[in-house]
Amino acid sequence: MTVAIPMTSWIEISEERLAANFRAIAQAAGRETVVLAVVKANAYGHGIELCSPALARAGAPWLGVTGASEGARARHALAEAGIAPKDQPRILVMCGFLPQNVEAIAEHALTPVVWTPQQVGWLQGSGTAVHVEIDTGMARQGVHPGAELEDLLAEIDAAELPLDGLLTHFCAAEAAHSELTQTQQRRFESAIAQVRRQGLAPKWVHAGSSSSVDNPAQSSPWLVDLANSVGARAMVRCGIALYGYCSPITGADAASVPSKLRPALRPVMTWKTRVLSLRDLAAGETVGYNATFTAPAPMRLAMLPVGYADGLRRELSGSDARPGGWVIIPSRDGSGPQAETQPAKAEPQAASKAPIVGRVSMNLTMVDITAIPGVRVGDEVVVLGDGITADDHARLAQTIPYEILCAVRVG
Ligand SMILES: *Cc1c(COP(=O)(O)O)cnc(C)c1O
Repeated sequence: MTVAIPMTSWIEISEERLAANFRAIAQAAGRETVVLAVVKANAYGHGIELCSPALARAGAPWLGVTGASEGARARHALAEAGIAPKDQPRILVMCGFLPQNVEAIAEHALTPVVWTPQQVGWLQGSGTAVHVEIDTGMARQGVHPGAELEDLLAEIDAAELPLDGLLTHFCAAEAAHSELTQTQQRRFESAIAQVRRQGLAPKWVHAGSSSSVDNPAQSSPWLVDLANSVGARAMVRCGIALYGYCSPITGADAASVPSKLRPALRPVMTWKTRVLSLRDLAAGETVGYNATFTAPAPMRLAMLPVGYADGLRRELSGSDARPGGWVIIPSRDGSGPQAETQPAKAEPQAASKAPIVGRVSMNLTMVDITAIPGVRVGDEVVVLGDGITADDHARLAQTIPYEILCAVRVG
């Protein structure tokens, strides 16, 4: 059976911006800290096949994925892009695996994060280098320093697996001078000291995320000093900042902590669609489900073939009570009949904000183009990108840009 899916929207990825964001992160992290590029969740919705080779070309020595199948996809994309195996980044499987993934881990030269004796058992005899996660407060993954870590290190030794790295993950990296982070740091230090006492020499010690690089209250020489204490290299794992976003620094004294990274970042994804049809409305007519928007005056609307099924959040709906989100539609000089008769090749003149009116529905959204002259059927529309960012969507939908980006579905 063949199912034809009409193309309603697409994303454009700027490799230039992705590389520039990577360089900005590396610079803010400092020369002594390596940046691992996180490409999990299909590179935060940007496409792992596209982003993995682009980040390798930008100089990323490590990529981070969720699971083994994602690691295999990244490895395949690197090979397809013509990057020789010896020049490819290493790939860290950050979020666990099952026995049925062990073959893929070996085949694609993936480096798993481990934290249970069971996981170590599955890898026994494979010679796979592992990174051990220390639970310092997230309580998702990781082993506790002390007896638990001691047992795990003994298992790793018995299974003849090289201990390549040690890591932890912070739960509030964007909080200025967070006591929570300080507690986590102390716990991680105790784990590193324990490893040192056992005479082990991991090559990598890593902690933190985009916010750890952005937040100067966190990106102290702490990590570098800690890594040095066991002769390892310091590494920070960055995802969201690669794609042009970063959580604002929070906390009572946030204002006194200037962001080290955020101002340098630019959005990598532009989500686009086309105007599918136009409609003139008389004053008093209503728009969409439940008639939540009423035209206060004669209006011109454009219909867009995107909706919540595509990841355009319903919270961006615009009603009489509350304005919603907007899209960017280029205007043309002049208006009315004159604009209509301009040759089709006439380039759009300037970008304009077109507010969403009425409810965002499953596959359709109406926007107000009354103030934008010369819009035509087939014109390109920016649903998300410059002028309407994932931060804007997230604020309106009361969520974080991560969730917005991951949810974009095109095709
Ligand atoms: C997703 C993830 C990161 C990256 O976080 P960002 O906030 O996107 O930079 C780092 N470490 C781990 C373990 C993660 O799961």
